[in-house]
Amino acid sequence: MAQYDVVIIGGGPGGYNAATRAGQLGLKTAIIEGRGKLGGTCLNVGCMPSKALLHASEMYEAANGGEFAKLGIEVKPKLNLVQMMAQKAESVEALTKGVEFIMKKNKVEYIRGWGRIDGPGKVVVKAEDGSETTLETKNIVIATGSEPTPLPGVTIDNNRIVDSTGALSLPEVPKSLVVIGAGVIGLELGSVWKRLGAEVTVVEFLDRILPGTDTEVATAFQKILAKQGFKFKLGSKVTGAEASAKGVKLSVEPVAGGAAETIEADYVLVAIGRRPYTQGLGLESVGIVPDKRGVIANDHYKTTAPGVWVIGDVTSGPMLAHKAEDEAVACIELIAGKAGHVNYDIIPGVIYTKPEVATVGKTEEDLKAAGVAYKVGKFPFLANSRAKINHETDGFVKVLADAKTDRILGAHAVGPNVGDMIAEFCVAMEFGGSSEDVARTCHPHPTRSEALRQAAMGVEGWTMQA
Ligand code: FAD
Ligand code: NAD
Repeated sequence: MAQYDVVIIGGGPGGYNAATRAGQLGLKTAIIEGRGKLGGTCLNVGCMPSKALLHASEMYEAANGGEFAKLGIEVKPKLNLVQMMAQKAESVEALTKGVEFIMKKNKVEYIRGWGRIDGPGKVVVKAEDGSETTLETKNIVIATGSEPTPLPGVTIDNNRIVDSTGALSLPEVPKSLVVIGAGVIGLELGSVWKRLGAEVTVVEFLDRILPGTDTEVATAFQKILAKQGFKFKLGSKVTGAEASAKGVKLSVEPVAGGAAETIEADYVLVAIGRRPYTQGLGLESVGIVPDKRGVIANDHYKTTAPGVWVIGDVTSGPMLAHKAEDEAVACIELIAGKAGHVNYDIIPGVIYTKPEVATVGKTEEDLKAAGVAYKVGKFPFLANSRAKINHETDGFVKVLADAKTDRILGAHAVGPNVGDMIAEFCVAMEFGGSSEDVARTCHPHPTRSEALRQAAMGVEGWTMQA
């Protein structure tokens, strides 16, 4: 029977980064993946294909009566959806092959099949042909990820009523698309299809979009999306859906009570969150009991079962690829007897729309609730020269700093390229930096990053460019 130091179940960002680090540290490692390709949700049906379509649709919109005309570039684009999907698939294929290469490079054994824990130190892998192999290991890392949360009464048929995976591969541009859930997936994939020509209506249970995001940022972002043509039905719940060959009839009611209405759409995207995936994992064989949401609890990535560890979407915390990646490194370093650690106060979140939304650290609501005295510095992209030249002036940057110590507690932005730029605040915060540290750091001109500096200056009231 094959013997390992670490067997990792799941080949997503949690699993493949754990495998890479384990390989680097000289541990005999196997990674088991059932979907036939490494990369997990992120590379196959999540982060990467969605970004491929966001990029392509942004280009299309710019050419199709968008910025191009303003810039003096006159073109009449023709949408080739088949090619748009093909280039997405090609990039995804290259990325998943890249992960396979990294596994080989780090001497990690990649085993195709579905893994099942079969008591302490044992994992059974069922291959596609039905054959089973048992692996013996000192450590098991569960990295099985998540799946879309279903909505009772709205059955996903992945024909007319789709989840995120279906919405990444629609066969045509819908005339009308209803998105259920004003979260990250709804707004990113809603943006894709809106740019390609769909009328998009977002139905959200709460009375705001993006719960958990700094309210001022979310409210400004909603206004920008509404200006782009998004329709919002907030405080509304979908109580039923009737799909036919041509489209879907949705029954929608105000959450606060009132008359129900019927909304018709060509397609419906259900994006109300994701839930941990542990089906067929054999947790009972080692006595692990997930909570009622399906989450496997962890204490420094240890489960309640000795030698069984857990990371990524299947455990607590934000369901983000970079969070899974950081937990992977920390978990393996702990297994190898090193000091693994993740700073959960500094996990950025980005929404890759146009403009982008980027956040890290505490929101104003968090600080108010905790009774922390803070100062705010803000700067609008309207006053940033590069944004102005590029006609991308929607949005602003906001910096929250401790009123006594000036330590940066949070940074929140909506605007051009803020998803890349937020890393500046992540680094500053990891170093325990103050708003003055960022305000006195030389930033290149003319760049949109100057808006971050000007917002930091604003904390002590010396913003210079607005
Ligand atoms: P996963 O990526 O879900 O990987 C788990 C893997 O385990 C899967 O491949 C699954 O097949 C496999 N598996 C499960 N059970 C078994 C078993 N018993 N045996 C063998 N294999 C098994 N996050 C971001 O940070 N940025 C983004 O831009 C972003 N965009 C997203 C867009 C969409 C549309 C979606 C759906 C998600 C997006 N996410 C994004 C979230 C991100 O994909 C997840 O947070 C991330 O993939 C979690 O990594 P993971 O390794 O925990 O799980
Ligand atoms: P989400 O949690 O971001 O948003 C779900 C939304 O649906 C919320 O606004 C919620 O209030 C609403 N909702 C819940 N039940 C509802 C109902 N019955 N009717 C109407 N609205 C309802 O979830 P998501 O958008 O599905 O994304 C899932 C996960 O994937 C998230 O955790 C996210 O972090 C991750 N993801 C990240 C990115 C990124 O980082 N750019 C992109 C896509 C997905």
